[in-house]
Amino acid sequence: MTTRDDTPKDDAPKTAGPACPICGKPPAPAYAPFCSKRCADVDLQRWLSGRYAIPGREEDALGQDDGSREE
Ligand SMILES: [Zn+2]
Repeated sequence: MTTRDDTPKDDAPKTAGPACPICGKPPAPAYAPFCSKRCADVDLQRWLSGRYAIPGREEDALGQDDGSREE
């Protein structure tokens, strides 16, 4: 009597989430959901360039930016 486990193995390593939205590589926990600081910076630049502009929010209204960013 043999019991076989036919559960397919998942080649993809366990990661923090879906692939990096910038380049599609597996994300790094430190930079999730991005794979690297570079990709995080790319996304940040998109924010700053208005690609993900949030209606009703003016950067000037914030006055100063100490680096902390709320989602
Ligand atoms: Zn990436």
